[in-house]
Amino acid sequence: MTPGDAGRIDFLPPLPTRRAKLQRVWRNGGERKICLVYRRPFWRDQGLNGTAVTDLPIAHFVVDNSPPDGSKGILLAFVGTAASGEFHWDDTILDNETARRDAFVKDLVRLFGPQAGDYEQYLEKSWIAEPWVSGVAAVRTPGVITNYTDAASAAVGRVHWAGAETSAEFESYMEGAVRAADRAVAEVLAASPG
Ligand SMILES: Cc1cc2nc3c(=O)[nH]c(=O)nc-3n(C[C@H](O)[C@H](O)[C@H](O)COP(=O)(O)OP(=O)(O)OC[C@H]3O[C@@H](n4cnc5c(N)ncnc54)[C@H](O)[C@@H]3O)c2cc1C
Repeated sequence: MTPGDAGRIDFLPPLPTRRAKLQRVWRNGGERKICLVYRRPFWRDQGLNGTAVTDLPIAHFVVDNSPPDGSKGILLAFVGTAASGEFHWDDTILDNETARRDAFVKDLVRLFGPQAGDYEQYLEKSWIAEPWVSGVAAVRTPGVITNYTDAASAAVGRVHWAGAETSAEFESYMEGAVRAADRAVAEVLAASPG
């Protein structure tokens, strides 16, 4: 888990200062995935792959999330925090599902034409609302790299940290998770007697 989530576990004896403080300052991103479901992936008829990177109000990054057989069309976007950890949107969007949906539809109509307004379902998933996960991909705030250096990955006695956030490369991504697991397993094996 991320250092932020590990901060909810009680450790006795207490963790080293640098690690304990890292867990307190760690900040995960506040992302939602929002999806519009269509009868079919209509954009493909126009030779479009459904991907868009924009400066529109909601649909900053859109991808085609349809099932492989194309039995439904699904366009997905992330709504959440900027790399700085600050929210892009004001509270009328952040705390109002209907406003989010309407703004998303408007953006998709602009990108993919009027058919984008004829959706079957709106779905969303917020990681901010999850009880045991403090958010999506972490943002290292200023000072975290310089003050806490390897505190995210340095073992504490027999406690080894294996989350994607401990990887020096691809931190917070699947590739980072695999690298972190490889490193942690090697560390545990090296520390095991015999
Ligand atoms: C919406 C979203 C989109 C993403 N998109 C991408 C992408 O496009 N590309 C990409 O590379 N990465 C993406 N990621 C990131 C990627 O999914 C993660 O970095 C990766 O899954 C982290 O792996 P992990 O093994 O470190 O942690 P996790 O896969 O989170 O595993 C941690 C495990 O610990 C368990 N756990 C938590 N607390 C406890 C506890 N107290 N006791 C026991 N078990 C506990 C959890 O249930 C979980 O199974 C995305 C993540 C999200 C949320």
